[in-house]
Amino acid sequence: MTEPNKVINGEAGELEEPRPLMPGEKFRFACRKGLRCFTHCCRDLNLFLSPYDILRLKNRLGISSGDFLRKYASTNIGIVSGFPVMTLRMNKDQEWTCPFVTPDGCTVYADRPASCRTYPLGRLVEKNRDTNRKKETYFIFREDHCLGFEEPDEWSVEEWLDDQEIKIYNEMNDLFMELIVSRDRAGIKNLTDEQMRNFALSCYNLDKFKDMAFTPGFLEEFDLSVEYVTRLRSDELELMKFGIRWAQFTLFGETTLPLK
Ligand code: SF4
Ligand code: SF4
Repeated sequence: MTEPNKVINGEAGELEEPRPLMPGEKFRFACRKGLRCFTHCCRDLNLFLSPYDILRLKNRLGISSGDFLRKYASTNIGIVSGFPVMTLRMNKDQEWTCPFVTPDGCTVYADRPASCRTYPLGRLVEKNRDTNRKKETYFIFREDHCLGFEEPDEWSVEEWLDDQEIKIYNEMNDLFMELIVSRDRAGIKNLTDEQMRNFALSCYNLDKFKDMAFTPGFLEEFDLSVEYVTRLRSDELELMKFGIRWAQFTLFGETTLPLK
């Protein structure tokens, strides 16, 4: 595929009931410049940003996480989760266009968010609490305005995940979901304002969290090797994972980090 552009929930239009794909089932889809609908879907979206989406985008744009959040994100409280959630702020023009779309496509294409990559699929993950095994189900979303379904290219789910480089996003999103599940395990219904702030800081504002993590004493609570701490300084992905685990520990008392 050359210079495609993927969408999320899309503009107003008929959406067929999402259908689970059977193992090995192929679907037809391609998104490319030249299609009449090209970029029309990159507008008026409720596009959630995961910690990993934010990490990729802020580096793509060469700005700090704080500047990214100020300029491009809106904070809401998840209706079901009760956690702070980030969404990409659409331009305040007539069509509420995505800030990254141009007539030529997505200007952050290589680092576009997971939901833009995954469309026309959606992913449901169920985890067995006893065995810890995950079960993934993929759904296909057909929207009537999307002409990509008329293209001849055929994909299995696996091929699509590889082509769109989605697996690392899924892996990081699953880690983030663990944090949400921890809250349920801890039996906590509502977070205090301070807990909300800590959650947002450690999950979304990585540069600020880094400043906090490297203030004297902060890391001393944990039994971390010198090599690991050195990696936290230079490897943002590792720091992001640490931030999520720190939130799990500090908010819900669960830890996968070694304590002193
Ligand atoms: S083919 Fe579908 S996903 Fe691609 S631009 Fe058109 S509407 Fe959007
Ligand atoms: S980030 Fe890119 S692919 Fe996603 S909605 Fe915006 S322009 Fe479209």
